[in-house]
Amino acid sequence: MKVGVLAVQGAVSEHLNHLGRCGVNAIAVKEKAALDQVSGLIIPGGESTTIGKLLETFGLAESIRERCCDGSLAVFGTCAGMVLMADEVSDGLPGQPHLGLMKIKVKRNAFGRQRESFETELQFDLFEPALTAVFIRAPKIEEAAAEVEVLARLDEGIVAARQGLMLTTSFHPELTADLRVHQYFIEICKAV
Ligand code: GLN
Repeated sequence: MKVGVLAVQGAVSEHLNHLGRCGVNAIAVKEKAALDQVSGLIIPGGESTTIGKLLETFGLAESIRERCCDGSLAVFGTCAGMVLMADEVSDGLPGQPHLGLMKIKVKRNAFGRQRESFETELQFDLFEPALTAVFIRAPKIEEAAAEVEVLARLDEGIVAARQGLMLTTSFHPELTADLRVHQYFIEICKAV
């Protein structure tokens, strides 16, 4: 099984390292030929507008949507990746690109100037003990449909959620040594 990291912009190498440390075959995905080989895809943090535009330019957006629709691809969006997972972005720019893979409404840069970047111990339903989570100009989920499983909350917002083969976190699990979130995603990929 191969798991890909979308490599058009953002924190790519950190995710590849984490996947490698989890013992999976990890590849950078820049074009359709690479996408076709993977069971799972991580959309990293970065700048959601830029990543979204490049996804369209490289012709990957439609292929990702198709693979998700037919249940042959698991996707994990972190931070900017969460914005791209959403079917609604509450305060995006005009023409803000998104993939609409999860029934969630996401607010960009949701934690305000005072808390632009911070680290916190996050209670996560799946994990004991709590997880150290790094937030960098992070988005949050404001609304989620009934079929979305909420995995963690912070300040009244949802910061981790799953819907079938789709997983998303507001924070950056690739920036701490803890591999539990990546391991959890790999288990989802094995179910594809
Ligand atoms: N605020 C950025 C965006 O909305 C995301 C920041 C990040 O990925 N660290 O694109």
